[in-house]
Amino acid sequence: MRIAIISDIHSNLEALTEALKVIDEKKVDLIYCLGDIVGYGASPNECVDLVRKNAAEVVMGNHDMAAIDPVQADYFTKPGKIAAEWTHKTLTKDNLDFLMRLSYKREDGTCTLAHASPKDPHDWQYVLSPEIAREQFPHFKTPLCFIGHTHVPVVAGEDLKTFDFKKNMRFIINVGSVGQPRDGNPKLSFGLFDTHEWSYENIRIEYDIKGAAEKIKAAGLPSVLAGRLFQGL
Ligand code: ZN
Repeated sequence: MRIAIISDIHSNLEALTEALKVIDEKKVDLIYCLGDIVGYGASPNECVDLVRKNAAEVVMGNHDMAAIDPVQADYFTKPGKIAAEWTHKTLTKDNLDFLMRLSYKREDGTCTLAHASPKDPHDWQYVLSPEIAREQFPHFKTPLCFIGHTHVPVVAGEDLKTFDFKKNMRFIINVGSVGQPRDGNPKLSFGLFDTHEWSYENIRIEYDIKGAAEKIKAAGLPSVLAGRLFQGL
């Protein structure tokens, strides 16, 4: 079975549409979504609709939670907070209800899914160092755990020395961000896992950044949220 793992779409319809097109071409059987469907970008309803239609499993992200209740955006940057309030007002009741029903952690027997970390999935911890990665492994039982949140793709083996995917080792894998990559590469990012081949690939693809940026400006959202998409930061 081929599973595409998408995360951190952030209301970027142009990036999500392109990702789904490539996922379709790659004959994927299942799509998992690691949350932050909304926040920052200008197309929250369109993105939630597409995730609802296409993803077999979805977990809650901190920006999804902030869209449900903007008080949860208190610790965000100012542009992030403005976007959370705008997203809350823009989402339909039906899509807000969908976000409200999401759980923090899911597992399918092979993969555990969490937005930020399997250890404390509702604390929105950033898994950015080997030490923090080490703490995560006792908190999932499956061979693999997929996360997002940092918007930076990383593959980390349980020995914390292996950064290339291989058999017979447990891994925590950050699939990167579809809608707001932050590793200096503006191409959208997602993960492709083949359960039969036991292979994992990080996919990077160009998309219509200009279109997404123009919509952010047209919606009256902070222009910094448009500009960063071109830099992948
Ligand atoms: Zn995010």
